[in-house]
Amino acid sequence: MSQLTNEQINRYKRHIILPEVGAEGQKKLLNSKVLCIGAGGLGSPISLYLAAAGVGTIGMADVDVVSPSNLQRQVLFGYSMLGQDKVSAASKRLKDLNPDLKLIEHKMVVNSSNVMDLIKDYDVIVDGTDNFPTRYCVNDACVLQKKPNVYGSIFRFEGMVTVFAPHLKNPDTGDKGPCYRCLYPEPPDPGSVPSCAEGGVLGVICGTIGSLQATEVVKLILNIGRPVIGRLITWSSLDQEFRTFKIRHDPACPVCGDQPTITKPIDYEQFCGVPILDPKSLEETKREVERAKAGSAPAPRPKDLDERGLPMGYSWKPDWEVTPREVKSMLDKGEKFVFIDCRLPNEYQITNIEGAKLIPLQQIAQRMGELKGHENEKVVVHCRSGQRSLQFAQLLRQQGFKDAKSMAGGILLWNKDINPGGPQY
Ligand SMILES: [Zn+2]
Repeated sequence: MSQLTNEQINRYKRHIILPEVGAEGQKKLLNSKVLCIGAGGLGSPISLYLAAAGVGTIGMADVDVVSPSNLQRQVLFGYSMLGQDKVSAASKRLKDLNPDLKLIEHKMVVNSSNVMDLIKDYDVIVDGTDNFPTRYCVNDACVLQKKPNVYGSIFRFEGMVTVFAPHLKNPDTGDKGPCYRCLYPEPPDPGSVPSCAEGGVLGVICGTIGSLQATEVVKLILNIGRPVIGRLITWSSLDQEFRTFKIRHDPACPVCGDQPTITKPIDYEQFCGVPILDPKSLEETKREVERAKAGSAPAPRPKDLDERGLPMGYSWKPDWEVTPREVKSMLDKGEKFVFIDCRLPNEYQITNIEGAKLIPLQQIAQRMGELKGHENEKVVVHCRSGQRSLQFAQLLRQQGFKDAKSMAGGILLWNKDINPGGPQY
């Protein structure tokens, strides 16, 4: 690109007037290619700000579709896009924001077989993913191809940002920058770190962390300021506190160290012990979208349940469990029994069954008095999916409640079979 057009000068004049950017800097942005991996909570602000800034080519890699529960934080999307592929919905929105933009849609699951080819034409890679296999995969490919990896992650009320770039210098020490493996040589134990779907996330966190990532991308392209290479910035929203940790390149790192043993992408699902895509969450997304599209019409009963209304292959424990259908019939007949919901109050607020008394499992010891005198009655306990309620029922039996049982599958199954369309969470 030789000269900016008058239209471009007008559009980017707030940039051009900054001496550190200028027309030359704006041209650098227009000529740059950035790959955003993940079009979710972080990918939204990242791609919106990069498109607005005039980054000429943005690649978006994601396999998901837009679902209603995305809209709490994924500000790239709107209600009219429900059910659309995220990458194509993103493309429409971002090109509307900036017609200069060339958006490359990569509707794919990023994995070891495609990552090297995927990143090769981009200048900067931004990691906005939410799972460990993809993070290691993106890290290794970036190290191998000497691409800066602008990393961000969020959880509940907190987030962190850094730039992994062993091929660039740590501006504070002059040493090589670290990579993700220098910071985390081993993945966490499978199941030990809850995802945002399990642990929750305050939506606005995405805006802060994603914007910090986009800022680092712009700085790298313009080669201005001090990139966060060798620094891990953490942010706690509840304390409104940023902290900086020095992180160092590890000469023994298996991918960026002096004697690397990883010279091409490996099997990251095996390395981390978890799948890249949770098949349950994909199915859930599909159902969410279907429900939203059907509006208030009742959702059809699922076909993947057996004759008792339990998921196919469910290992039914007749001595300990009742099915949601049995509970429904007991309620309909007005049968006398003690019905307990042992989840937390915030879960109760999401969805609950009329007539169930809320006694969180955590409070069972203090609140046992409330159940005094009911030892010889039938007791049914339910929770979200049937795990905690089974534990609750076992504790009750130890206290002399002979007929304490757990509702199999919890309220999630209830909301599938008895109250179809009721919230899944
Ligand atoms: Zn490393």
